Amino acid sequence: MTRRRRLSLDDYERGVRARDRAVLARAITLVESREASDVALAQELLTRLMPSALNVASGKPDTAGAIRIGITGVPGVGKSTLVDELGMRLLSRGKTIAVLAVDPSSSVSGGSILGDKTRMGRLSLERDAFIRPSPSGLSPGGIARRTRETMLLCEAAGFDVIVVETVGVGQGETAVSEMVDFFLVLMLPGSGDELQGIKKGILELADAIAVNKADGDNVARARIALGDLKAALRYVPRHRAIWKPAVVAISGQSGEGLDALWDIVEEHRRTMETSGGLAALRADQQRAWMRTLILDRLERTFLAHPEVKSRLSQLEADVRAGRTTPPLAVDALFAAYLQPISATARS
Ligand code: GDP
Repeated sequence: MTRRRRLSLDDYERGVRARDRAVLARAITLVESREASDVALAQELLTRLMPSALNVASGKPDTAGAIRIGITGVPGVGKSTLVDELGMRLLSRGKTIAVLAVDPSSSVSGGSILGDKTRMGRLSLERDAFIRPSPSGLSPGGIARRTRETMLLCEAAGFDVIVVETVGVGQGETAVSEMVDFFLVLMLPGSGDELQGIKKGILELADAIAVNKADGDNVARARIALGDLKAALRYVPRHRAIWKPAVVAISGQSGEGLDALWDIVEEHRRTMETSGGLAALRADQQRAWMRTLILDRLERTFLAHPEVKSRLSQLEADVRAGRTTPPLAVDALFAAYLQPISATARS
């Protein structure tokens, strides 16, 4: 058993490429780790695995031709039920699927909304599927800190379809939409007023909007919702010139509309490929990734700065007590940060 043995870089690389799910899971844990030695190893591993991912950007559809799909919607909209059913259908077509479910761990309760709820019960038992719940950590909008890197590992492992499932909260959608090829927004058939509940921003990001749970008593309501959505979309600027967002009614539970939904995903893929849009998209994704890494490192560097570190809690206390204002406190911190580190602090 390799279980507790420390894996070498070669072990990781070989295991990931062979789609050894235990090694893949450990590789993901490695890229999520903040331990300095892990960070260095993760970096090396990603660099080794990267070329196959870059082949797509350079127009060579090689091993990394995965379709990256982002799925978002409020808790309870039916994301995991849909992914379970859609995933089973894809498996029956001979495809492999990896699901990265961002667990919206609550910073208030410290608990996890997903908890021990059995999610994707059928898919999780399948050999050709891989499901990874990732804690959202402290990233804004409930995005796992290392979702991009995790996606890359799954691509190197040769999964055909990679689903990033996330809860619709704030900046989360933008972050996910920047790392996927196809962004699906799930909605519930309401009583005609559901449009008020949608942030316009979400519609702007969507490649498709699916009105879910269009079954039983909901069928008529779903039809109305479809009409409303189509009307609303006329006023939403398109985020891709070559693609008009699709609107469909589905039921993740009964499977109704799921083949049509998958057809849309494939048509989108073909459109992006033939127009050269896919290569451009991958290039944008790489750039967005770089930006994220810059901000990530800036934040860490800032907070680790000795002067910032020593003054932060006092300034926070001052802000709380009304002794200073947030902008003034930030000014003070940046002044400290931009000062050359004093000789005493450095030693
Ligand atoms: P998530 O929080 O978005 O992942 O939602 P879940 O997939 O866990 O589903 C939330 C609830 O809605 C569960 O009780 C499901 O059984 C139910 N549900 C999910 N999909 C459907 C559907 O297509 N039709 C109906 N009627 N119920 C559904």
